[in-house]
Amino acid sequence: MQDLHIHVFPGRKDSPAEFVDKTRAAGVTGGAVLGMYPETFGKENEDQRWQARLDYVLDFCSQAPGFRPMFWIDPLAEDALEQVQTAVEKGIAGFKVICNYFYPKEGLKIYQAIAETGLPLMFHSGVLYNEQPSSGYNQPMSVEFLMEVKGLRFSLAHISWPWCAELVSLFGKLNYLDECAPEGRSQMYYDITPGTPPIFREEALRRIYMTGLRVKHRVLWGTDCLANDYNVEYARYWADLDRKIYDGISADPNRYRVAGQDEYDYSDIWERAIDRNFAAFFGEE
Ligand SMILES: [Zn+2]
Repeated sequence: MQDLHIHVFPGRKDSPAEFVDKTRAAGVTGGAVLGMYPETFGKENEDQRWQARLDYVLDFCSQAPGFRPMFWIDPLAEDALEQVQTAVEKGIAGFKVICNYFYPKEGLKIYQAIAETGLPLMFHSGVLYNEQPSSGYNQPMSVEFLMEVKGLRFSLAHISWPWCAELVSLFGKLNYLDECAPEGRSQMYYDITPGTPPIFREEALRRIYMTGLRVKHRVLWGTDCLANDYNVEYARYWADLDRKIYDGISADPNRYRVAGQDEYDYSDIWERAIDRNFAAFFGEE
């Protein structure tokens, strides 16, 4: 299985070899590593210049087969465009943004530049546990404007908890437009990395699949673990829990199907979320 959502945080760091051993022990054989955050997210006692953060994640992933390097960009940085260009030249696999002090729309120019590179863009979504009031920047509907960023593939993380229903409705709109007029639209993906506490999770996952949208090719699984010290037990917990929830959805896919609409085949949703959907998101097919 693949893990879309693995962070690099400050402090002690495992070597790539140690990281690979731990992910293998959790049954994870690939995914994406999101490089260290910029100073505007949190000032740390290490080199946070963008060049250093970019080189670290590129070097780390070059020694961790199956894991793609992602660059965490502040789209409001003065030289953000140069950061995008350099990251692409050096072989980055995609970009990560957390709107911790700005509304998503303020970064539009950079998202357009990223769309032109053909690489994906991952957003945080939902309540943000940082040290400033910031969750209002991360409500699903605040990225509705992305529907007009032609060619952009983007993901929203954490099932946007607690705004899961808002997220599903946004997906409905964007997915509908993408299917009706695909040449002019962006493509939205769910990054179902936890954020949803277990008591909310089954309902959130069921809503994603059972609202009646064409969704199974647009879901990506992740953990929010750290590359610093990948938490095997934690990753296994979520994989086991999610697998059971998926089995339940697969066993009864048409419970909420509206009469007159096509029947759903959800026999492959787990396999897609943990592996098959990754290639399309990263533009590898
Ligand atoms: Zn995260």
